This record gives sequence, structure tokens and C-alpha cells, in this order.
Amino acid sequence: MNNNANYYRRIDLPAGDLHVFAHDDLFHAMGAKVLEMANNNLQIPNIRYMSYTPDAHVGVGTCIGTTAVWGMADGFVSPSIVGSDIGCGMRMHLTNLQAEDLQDVKLRRKLVKAIEKRIPVENHARGYFSDIRLENVLRKGLHGLPGKYVPDSYTPRKATSLTHVECSRFRFDEDELDRIPEPMWHRSHRQLGTLGNGNHFIEIQALSVNEENRGIAEQWGLRDGQVVVMIHSGSRSWGGSVNQHCSSQVAKTMSKMGLGTADPKLAYAPLDSEAGRAYTNLMYSALNYAVANRHLMAFAVRDAFKETLGSQAEMSTLYDLMHNYACEEAHSEEPLLIHRKGTTRALPAGHAGNPAPYLDTGHPALIPGSMGTASYLMVGAPEGARNYHSICHGAGRIRSRNATKQLVTVDEFASSMRIGQEDEIVLNHRALESLVDESPQAYKDVDQIIDSVVQARLASVVAKCRPLAAVKG
Ligand code: 5GP
Ligand code: MN
Ligand code: MN
Repeated sequence: MNNNANYYRRIDLPAGDLHVFAHDDLFHAMGAKVLEMANNNLQIPNIRYMSYTPDAHVGVGTCIGTTAVWGMADGFVSPSIVGSDIGCGMRMHLTNLQAEDLQDVKLRRKLVKAIEKRIPVENHARGYFSDIRLENVLRKGLHGLPGKYVPDSYTPRKATSLTHVECSRFRFDEDELDRIPEPMWHRSHRQLGTLGNGNHFIEIQALSVNEENRGIAEQWGLRDGQVVVMIHSGSRSWGGSVNQHCSSQVAKTMSKMGLGTADPKLAYAPLDSEAGRAYTNLMYSALNYAVANRHLMAFAVRDAFKETLGSQAEMSTLYDLMHNYACEEAHSEEPLLIHRKGTTRALPAGHAGNPAPYLDTGHPALIPGSMGTASYLMVGAPEGARNYHSICHGAGRIRSRNATKQLVTVDEFASSMRIGQEDEIVLNHRALESLVDESPQAYKDVDQIIDSVVQARLASVVAKCRPLAAVKG
């Protein structure tokens, strides 16, 4: 890669400034549409800041890879800049196993089967957690789960399940929950503990520590060769119901106030309006659902590990964080509303926004790649403040599902997953055809994306993870 290349540019668009944190080549590959979308988003009144991460690509109303900031006092909230899967995020658990313990491909298959048995991936499937009250989860996030699911059984030595998360509970005006119709409640209740389809996944990975950050890795409890579990999922149909319910109200407010842009799919409302308040409150309920849902899946995965590898197998929470959300943060004297759509917060050491266990090091930022390539554990750099501590959230899609299916044959896909070899990345789907559209070729090169984030001094690499097995939605 060219050492002199630029990793940051400020683009002066008609509606305002867009900040892009990406290598020149990645920026040019983004295409013209991403700038058109930025210009639409910059037309929302009182916007303070907007940027793209190197994985930015076209989304509905707003690009995935956007950070957008308003003041709380005169701000706007935008369902389009949160994204449709509200609260979608990543979770990682550390195990006490080493990659050698899973060297036998048959054992990896057994483990995938044991996970599949507990975590249905189909959209209509029922989860295993029918004894949980949905209302409690929506209101209180992790704190709304019955005690037996928030054991420190994850954590034989120290409690990590409630402390090692970006947010274990969002508080909001709970009366708004009544707006969501009954059938949606039933559906969301059934879905607790399910993964959902698309690119959601539970992946078993082996970790290697980056020498440069070995000190931090040790403080986080990471070892070379350690087996870790990465979970990617969101708020299932609850977030969808929230979007559906709020969209007409937001549209009405926009037309009443004479607001709009060239893109009819870009929705927003003043924070201080009925529609803005309703959306913000219900969005928080979806963030609570999402974090609790990832937690429940981890609970089930831990059971699957114990069944497959013996009762001494353990899993502690490394971290859980979101990449589709908006929330109030303190970055200056004045409270700000930060929207992150497909971007990940990465706070550096010493930042007061870190949960207590990570105050000295900065918290882990979990960045997935694809099922056949690496994923990364990053930590924020102090210079990341200029982007409100947002970094990428993955490699980012490079081609549509259809285009991927046309480009990649099943054989090519099988060979990129090393199917049939001793080091096969074991998948839950027996019919590979159904997964070709999620193959590594559907995504940008994650190493290049991470390099851009590092060169722009937003964050640095603590560890790199290679996939051993994946349960795909
Ligand atoms: P999104 O949240 O935008 O739906 O996806 C997040 C990122 O997850 C994608 O940009 C891609 O880099 C990554 N990803 C998608 N599928 C997989 C997978 O099966 N395994 C891993 N490790 N990463 C994936
Ligand atoms: Mn999602
Ligand atoms: Mn996601």
C-alpha cells in the first residue's frame, strides 16, 4: 500500500462538510451515490458533523458507515441514520480453550450442531427462553433477565456479564411501549434467543495477539491461540415493529413542518417533537432487546460448549457493543446525540465513557470480516476524538447478494471455506448454495479496511481472529 496515500479527506458538499476516513483507493471505490446520500443527510437542520468510515456503502436513506451528530437542545433524530436493524451489534466471549482443542473437524461439527440445536436460525423459529417476560427485557435490557440467565456462571472468577457491555440498560419513557400492537409482542417474545437470517452469525474463532498491543491484550485476558466466540445479531422483529410504527408518524411530522430532502426514504424528526420522542423511546427499547438477545444466545452457546467439550469449558464476556443506534454522549461541554449507522464506538484509555473494567485500557471494539477471512479486536486511539470515536463496523458489502451469486460458484465458495480439508471452517448450512451470497467475496478486504482505520489513527489492532466454525443465519 502506498505510504504517502491519504487516509482522511474533508469534502465540501453543497449542503455541508463530509469527513471521510478511508484510503484513497477505498474512497474512489465508494462511487458517486455515497456523496449524493451524504448531501441529502447534511440537509437535515442543525447537523453538527457527519463522516464515513472506510467500509461505507449505500444503504436506505443513509449510507452504512455513517456517524452523524446533533446537539441535544436543537437536535434531530433519524430512523434512517440508525438503520432498520436497531441495536444490531457484536458480542465476544473468551473461552478457556485453545485452537488445538478444536483441531478435530468432527468435534467442530459436533459443536456447531449443539449450537444449532439451541439457537434456531430460521425467522419463524421459536427460541428456548419462553420463561422470560418480554416487557422486562424491553424496559431493562440485561437487568430484565431472570437471575438464572445472568449468572456469573459465565464467569467463574469475576462477574463480567453485566459490566462488560457498552450499555446493559437504556432508560426511556416506558409508556411508549403501549404503542406497539399485541401481535408484535408475541412475535418478539417467541424470537428471544434466536439469531435471525442474513449475515447474522455465531462464529468460533482462534485469536492471535498483535505484539504492539500485547500489554492491553493481557489486561483483557487474551492469549495466542485462544478460542473465542463472536456473535452478530440485532433486535429481530421488535426493531422492525418500532420502525414500522414510527415511520408514518415521522413522515407526518416532516410534512407538517415542511421538512424533506431529495430522498423520500430519508426520515427524521426534531428530538423535541412527539414523533421524535416516540421514536427515541422505542429505539431504546429495541437496544435493550438486542443486548439481551445476544446475551441469551451466548448463554446457549456456553451450554453447547459444555455439552461438546466437557463441563470445564467456560466462557466469560469480553464485550458487547452496537453498530446501529443513536444515543446521548458527552464529547464536549454540551450533550450530543450521536448516530452510528454501521459504525462502532472505540473509546481510548482513560475516556470516562468506558465501562469501569476498561477505563485503563479502552474497551474492545469488535470488528467482523467475513466467514472466510479475519475479524479484529481493536482499541480506540485518543486521536479518534475527531471522529467522535467512531470506527468501521466490518469489511462492508462490496456487491449485492445477486451479483455475488453470479460471480462466485459453489465450488469456489467451498474452496474458500476449505470444505473437506482438515482445517475446514465448519458451517451449519449443509446446502452451500444458500450461503454463496454471504461468501467472503461479497465483502471488501477487511485487512485493507482495518489498515485505513489504523493509518487514520482512529484505533489500533489488539488481536486478529481466524474463523474455525460458523453458524450463519
Ligand atoms: P452488517 O452489520 O452491516 O449487517 O454487517 C457487519 C459486517 O459483518 C459486514 O460488513 C461483514 O464485514 C461482516 N460479516 C458478515 N458475515 C460475516 C460472517 O459470517 N463472519 C464474520 N466474521 N463477519 C461477517
Ligand atoms: Mn443486523
Ligand atoms: Mn449488524
